[in-house]
Amino acid sequence: MNFDGKGEGRDPVAKVEERPFVVIGGGIGGLTAALSLARIGKSSTVLEQAPEFTEIGAGLQLAPNAMRVLSRLGLMEGIRQFAWFPHRLVIIDSKTAEELSALDLGEEFQRHYGHPYAVMHRADLLNLLYESCRATGKVELLPNKMVTEVKSDGQGVDVVCQDGSSYRAAGVIAADGLWSKTRRLFSDDQPIHAEYVAYRGTVPIEEIREIARMDDVVMWIGHELHFVQYPVRRGELYNQVAVFRSHRYQPNSDAWGTPEELDEAYKKTCLPVQHAVTFMQRGRRWPMVDRLPIPRWTDGRVALLGDAAHPMLQYIAQGACQAIEDAATLAEKFLTLGDDIPTVFRAYEAERTGRTARVQTSARNFGYIIHSGDPTTIMLRNYIFRNRRPNDFSAVEWIYGHDAAPHLG
Ligand SMILES: Cc1cc2nc3c(=O)[nH]c(=O)nc-3n(C[C@H](O)[C@H](O)[C@H](O)COP(=O)(O)OP(=O)(O)OC[C@H]3O[C@@H](n4cnc5c(N)ncnc54)[C@H](O)[C@@H]3O)c2cc1C
Repeated sequence: MNFDGKGEGRDPVAKVEERPFVVIGGGIGGLTAALSLARIGKSSTVLEQAPEFTEIGAGLQLAPNAMRVLSRLGLMEGIRQFAWFPHRLVIIDSKTAEELSALDLGEEFQRHYGHPYAVMHRADLLNLLYESCRATGKVELLPNKMVTEVKSDGQGVDVVCQDGSSYRAAGVIAADGLWSKTRRLFSDDQPIHAEYVAYRGTVPIEEIREIARMDDVVMWIGHELHFVQYPVRRGELYNQVAVFRSHRYQPNSDAWGTPEELDEAYKKTCLPVQHAVTFMQRGRRWPMVDRLPIPRWTDGRVALLGDAAHPMLQYIAQGACQAIEDAATLAEKFLTLGDDIPTVFRAYEAERTGRTARVQTSARNFGYIIHSGDPTTIMLRNYIFRNRRPNDFSAVEWIYGHDAAPHLG
C-alpha cells in the first residue's frame, strides 16, 4: 500500500522478523517509540524530515500517566535535571481573577500516583529522548529524510524518502504528526480547525519574575479564550500560551488569528492577564486543530502512533502524554505477545483506540466548558469548580492513574 491508498490487503504472514523497525517522525512520539523498542532489545531507524531532531521553544506538561512511562524508560534522572515540579494546577477566571479551582500536586498527589506532575521545555525532553536513544546503540537517527511512500508486500514494508533512499523494515511505526501522510492509508479524513489559535513561547525568568507564579500551572479561562502559564527548565524560563477564537477564520487562509486579534481578544481580560500577554512572542501562531477518532490505525506491519493516530486539542495537555503511552504499550505488547508484528500491532490498536478516543473527546468537551459564554453553563461550571477539593483527584483519575505498560522496565 502507498499514500494513494492502493492496498495489497492485510498481511497474512506470521513469523519472527529480525530486521529492524522504521519509525517515521522524530518527535516526542517517534523517539519514545524507538526508545521503548530499544529497551526491549529491538533496533529501529528513525526517519525525520527536518534537518535536526528538535522541538519548538515552548513548554510541555507531563502528567503522571506519561511520567510513569518515562520513569520505566529510565529517564527520571534526566527529567529531574531539566524539569520543574509545580505544586498546584489552578484555574482562574480571566475577567474577575477569581481562583475557581485548584488541584494539589504535592505529597498526597505524588503518593497516590507514584509519580509527580512535571513541566518541561519541549527541547529538553526531545534532547533527553534523542540522547537516550543514541545511548542504547539500537536506534539509528536520520534527519533530512522526508518519507513519501510506504509500501507493504506482506513480508515487510518499504519506506521511500523524497531523496530517493528507501528502507525495508519488518514493521513501520508512523509517528508523523497531525498532518500525517501515513494516516491516508487508514482514513481520508482532514484535520478539523477549531477556529482557535495559540501563541506560545518562553520568557527568561528574570524578565517576568514579578508576575511569574512559580508554584503553579495556571490556566486563566474566559469566553472564547484561555491563557496558560508555568515555569520550565529548572525555573529559568517562564512558558506562556495565549489561546483565543478568531472570528476571521477562513479555510485555506493564513490571514486570521493575527497578533492584532490577540490583543483585541485579551482586552476583555483582567489587568494581570493583559500585562502577561505583552510578553508573548508574536512571530508564529499555532491553529488549534484535531481530528475525530478513527477505529483502525494498524494494518499488518504498519501502525500509527501519537498525533498521527489521535490528534487532539491541547486543552487538557494530553497529546504528548498519549503519544508516550502509545509507545510504551506498543513495546509492552511485544513483551507479552511475542514477535509476530501484525499480532502485536493489532493488540496495540485494540488497547489504545478506546482510551485515546476518550481523551480526544474530553479535550473537545473541556474546550466547550472553559470557553463558554453561556451564563447557565458558566454558573454550573464555576459551582462545580469552586466545590472541588484540591485533593479530590476523581476527575483526573482515569487519565493520570493509567499504567500504559506495567511490564516494561
Ligand atoms: C499549544 C500546544 C500546547 C500543547 N501542550 C501540551 C502539553 O502540555 N502536554 C501534552 O502532553 N501535549 C501537549 N500538546 C500536544 C503535543 O504537542 C502533541 O500531541 C505531540 O507533540 C505529538 O507528538 P508526535 O510525536 O505524535 O507528533 P509531532 O510532535 O508532530 O512529531 C511529528 C514528527 O514527524 C515529522 N514528520 C512529519 N511528516 C514526516 C514525513 N513525511 N517524513 C519524515 N518525518 C515526518 C515531523 O517533522 C515531526 O518531527 C500541545 C500542543 C499544542 C499545539
